[in-house]
Amino acid sequence: MEAEMDLTGISTQPQANTVRGMNLVAAHSHIRGLGIDLDTLQPRETSQGLVGQTKARKAAAVVLKMVKEKKIAGRAILMAGPPSTGKTAIAMGMAQTLGEDTPFTMLASSEIFSLEMSKTEALTQAFRKSIGVRIKEETEVILGEVVEIQIDRSITTGTKQGKLTIKTTDMETIYDLGNKLIEQLQKEKVLAGDIISIDKASGKITKLGRSYARSRDYDAMGPETKFIQTPDGEIQTRKEVIHTVSLHEIDVINSRSQGFLALFSGDTGEIRSEIRDQINVKVSEWQEEGKAEIIPGVLFIDEIHMLDQECFSFINRALEDELAPIVIMASNRGNVKIRGTEIVSPHGLPLDLLDRIIIITTYPYDEPELQQILSIRAQEEEIELTDNALALLTKISKDTSLRYGSHLITVSSFAAAKRKSDKVDLQDVQRTFTLFLDQGRSVQFLNEYEGSMLG
Ligand code: ATP
Repeated sequence: MEAEMDLTGISTQPQANTVRGMNLVAAHSHIRGLGIDLDTLQPRETSQGLVGQTKARKAAAVVLKMVKEKKIAGRAILMAGPPSTGKTAIAMGMAQTLGEDTPFTMLASSEIFSLEMSKTEALTQAFRKSIGVRIKEETEVILGEVVEIQIDRSITTGTKQGKLTIKTTDMETIYDLGNKLIEQLQKEKVLAGDIISIDKASGKITKLGRSYARSRDYDAMGPETKFIQTPDGEIQTRKEVIHTVSLHEIDVINSRSQGFLALFSGDTGEIRSEIRDQINVKVSEWQEEGKAEIIPGVLFIDEIHMLDQECFSFINRALEDELAPIVIMASNRGNVKIRGTEIVSPHGLPLDLLDRIIIITTYPYDEPELQQILSIRAQEEEIELTDNALALLTKISKDTSLRYGSHLITVSSFAAAKRKSDKVDLQDVQRTFTLFLDQGRSVQFLNEYEGSMLG
């Protein structure tokens, strides 16, 4: 047993887990933030995947400031603007600007009516998916330096043999972990001369560096590891591990009838309110003990006019809750009837909810902006476009929609591949444009067809 290392100032990289539910939509994978200068709140023309729409992004930045200063309670945001003008993209950028592990949940209002649960349960789940709990845990690790490692697998017997010598602060743990440790050493491709930390409970190994570069490697380990010297001179380490889960995930795991596997199938069913109450109590205890921190995320509710009075009353109440996420609703409608009533109102929202909202407007893009967005999308999908192809895609997006234009990028790349070219050219876009209709042409076709059938 050896423990002669200088352990001052050792630390490790934070291990934040990003849990954002299953709602990340590939169409927005190029969005990395709101693209603003955090001091002046000014949007950069093109930044973090976002192009133009500077007024809306500036407004969004001001909302983020209100969130940070906790002045948003009880309010919601409405993004109003024509289709494909970046309402979803900006909402996503806001969540990312708030922090890497800020949850972002997307809910299409029409979805609520098709789920096999009550509307309010569906909304409750969406709200709780949008609240993150950053949990801090201290795990104990031991340090070791691998002196020699030779592990051979005997082909005939399937057993592992070999020689393993580790200089470590805690030999007993090494013996206890036994084969688990050997598997980990292989998995992490640990070599002689590596300095490793070993999680006492799980046996998980993290490579910290090479022994001949000891001091430098320790510097790279970050501030989360505290080394504690016990009275008998033994050196142990405690590492702070941080992960973020959503309140909904905690609900599901603790809901006895469902179990954590439901997290993967999505088949969570209704969760009893007593379970949620208990979890709220537990989480606030963790908060008081400094073990957990609440991360309000963003709940994006699209096609808001599709919701009815019952849903709006729920949202009104939920906004008042202490544990409320930032609610961003989106609408591309003007004055419409509130669902289930004869009352016409802006965006189909009832007055009491309209009173609470901050409206951010998005505007149609000009051609250079469209071109830039399409070009970012192509880069994101690793598709090369000729200048002519990009120009045609831009024109198509202007005449139909940006969403249709970006879909054509993907499909055109298949057409290009078919003619064994690794670059999408004009002909590929032309071909897919005639193969796949945009909404306008599709409706026109059906109308004409309907006419001929009736006639
Ligand atoms: P809808 O009303 O139809 O739901 P929307 O306003 O939410 O539309 P988005 O879905 O955000 O529009 O935009 C359509 C596509 O264009 C997405 O792939 C989105 O990421 C991208 N996009 C939109 N605006 C921008 C922008 N300013 N910068 C970069 N990408 C953008």
